[in-house]
Amino acid sequence: MYVHSAWSIPYADRIGVAMLRIVRNGHMTPGEFLDFPKYGGGRSTFPYRGGCMFQRYIRQVMLNEVGKAGQERLRKAAVAVIGCGGLGTVVSDLLVRAGVGFVKIVDRDTIELSNLQRQTLYDEDDLARNLPKAETAAIKLKKVNSEVVLEPWVIDVNAQNIEDIVSGVDLVVDGTDNFETRYLINETCVAHNIPWVYASVAATCGMTMAVVPRQTACLQCFCGDAPFLRQLPSSDTVGIWGPVVNLMAALEVSESLKLLMGVKSELQGSLLYVDLWAGTFDTLRVHRRVGSCPVCG
Ligand SMILES: [Zn+2]
Repeated sequence: MYVHSAWSIPYADRIGVAMLRIVRNGHMTPGEFLDFPKYGGGRSTFPYRGGCMFQRYIRQVMLNEVGKAGQERLRKAAVAVIGCGGLGTVVSDLLVRAGVGFVKIVDRDTIELSNLQRQTLYDEDDLARNLPKAETAAIKLKKVNSEVVLEPWVIDVNAQNIEDIVSGVDLVVDGTDNFETRYLINETCVAHNIPWVYASVAATCGMTMAVVPRQTACLQCFCGDAPFLRQLPSSDTVGIWGPVVNLMAALEVSESLKLLMGVKSELQGSLLYVDLWAGTFDTLRVHRRVGSCPVCG
């Protein structure tokens, strides 16, 4: 049969293709598939733990890369998002919508008018209420997904409390805006063997890298003690292009979800540098400084 596009295929055939794809990959039996209302009319409750839950995550459970086993791993996972500004709001939102079971949101600040340009969990009413970002984000996200346990921490991250912050989590996501805090996260996560995902943004550019302790390079391997990092431009001084924030946060979450599901990522061991204005994406291989890195060596 000649078709102009996928949409020319009769509806029943498209469903058949989708069904075969899922059944062949072992995520569902044919009976389970037909029980799902969208495709089969909903003959009975889907046997996966909590029919409601299955329906909520169906679009990602359908993915070969996720499946029911991956979704279950996300449900059991605990993540700390440190910093809930531009990166952190998008990161928290994506993690909660994806069904990560426990999300700790750490931020000391309250909302300012200039945040609304890119910090997607906040609005003008929140600005008027003058509540801390972490609490506001948790209130919003609880409405998005009540199955997720949300824990807002309104504190300034420092060497005295970082151990408590990362305690009990499986992964840390960087939503901070400075390298001092990132070095602290790096040292603590490597010491406790907790993977973490770094990202930074400024102007129209961003960088991201996942750190898996003693498997990939850590932040210290990559940056050393380069003094220029302390003076790197921030959104306060050079501005920030809203879309690059969302993009880098999405990249962070994509790598985070892979790590939580125990999936090997092609990006692990690499730093991804994006110039969104120029439309360039560069992947740089970063090697561990085995034996010489003071943090992970
Ligand atoms: Zn290192």
